[in-house]
Amino acid sequence: MKIAIFGAGQLAMMMIKADREAKHDYVVIDPSHEPPASLYASHIQSEYNNSNTINNICTNCDLVTIDFENVDVSAMAKIEKYVPVHPNSQALEICQDRIKEKDLFKSLDIKTTRNFEINSMNDIEKNRETSKKYILKSRRFGYDGKNQYRIEPNEKIETNLISSPCILEELVFFKAEVSLICVKSIDGYIFYYPLIENSHKDGILNMSIYPSSYEHLQQSAELIGSKLLEEMNYVGVLVIEFFVNEDDELIANEMAPRVHNSGHWTIEGSNLNQFEAHIAAITNNIKDFKLELKPSFMFNVLSKHISNEKIDKLKSNLNIYVHDYHKTQRANRKLGHLTCTAENIETLKENIRVFKKII
Ligand code: AMP
Repeated sequence: MKIAIFGAGQLAMMMIKADREAKHDYVVIDPSHEPPASLYASHIQSEYNNSNTINNICTNCDLVTIDFENVDVSAMAKIEKYVPVHPNSQALEICQDRIKEKDLFKSLDIKTTRNFEINSMNDIEKNRETSKKYILKSRRFGYDGKNQYRIEPNEKIETNLISSPCILEELVFFKAEVSLICVKSIDGYIFYYPLIENSHKDGILNMSIYPSSYEHLQQSAELIGSKLLEEMNYVGVLVIEFFVNEDDELIANEMAPRVHNSGHWTIEGSNLNQFEAHIAAITNNIKDFKLELKPSFMFNVLSKHISNEKIDKLKSNLNIYVHDYHKTQRANRKLGHLTCTAENIETLKENIRVFKKII
């Protein structure tokens, strides 16, 4: 089976590497020069909506998936007339647009942030209560805290973000941020990883920890996951990011229609990692199995590579796995990640303490 992956970043790279028995052939499509996954598969350097590329994929591939949600939806809709695309183009269309995502949450009775559609400065002033805090976000192409503007009470708003359609969200006072990895295969088999606890710095994921302190919210999270998988007729890995508010409720923030940074620890911390799970789901190869997990944490390497000296020190103190995405340094760029597994929660907590001291 030949699988085309639109987007050839580190997520595609880890998907291909997870196929340890090389059961499938992969081709990656990405406009950039030598993206991470091009080291592991043939690379078509092309825009996502290039008609020659689309024809090529329709003729030569058996299945299409993504590592980047902002692919061209109409191109994916064209492809899925000939070749299965997982997740489907309608799911991608929803997940690309924060308003569509929030409207879907609301239609399924899923608690989400209070929000308003914004097309002008006047829309902000009309909806804003000056005593409250908000975040203005672009509806599309916002990730890793990009295209967001925080609005303080009574503050004069100075941003050119509203030159494109936006959403205004009330700021949620949260105790924690957690994510749920949902997996659904073609034949409808569904399973969920346990909630993962995430911390961010400047809107970018910094650390993910399994297990979270919110295991008691697992059932509620899975109920939300099941509604979304069903409504979007979804196949593959879907990740939902939540805030846990002061009343211990899950507030859905956004969805990623793909494998997710908060699930990278599953490479070493699970008997079926999120990348294997995604490929198994879209090729309908998930058999009944028991998920086995080790307490783990993942740390993102951002902007600057970690020195060899520091890596050696980490390795001599901890059970650390190093993942390098083969990228050059740039401010706020994800260059790699580190994972540390532990035998039990006490050791994990101690490991985190030691790690933070060294890093
Ligand atoms: P997002 O791109 O929506 O995931 O936002 C990036 C990060 O900004 C989130 O992980 C939160 O830490 C923070 N954030 C986003 N929206 C809100 C909100 N409505 N209230 C509080 N914090 C938020």
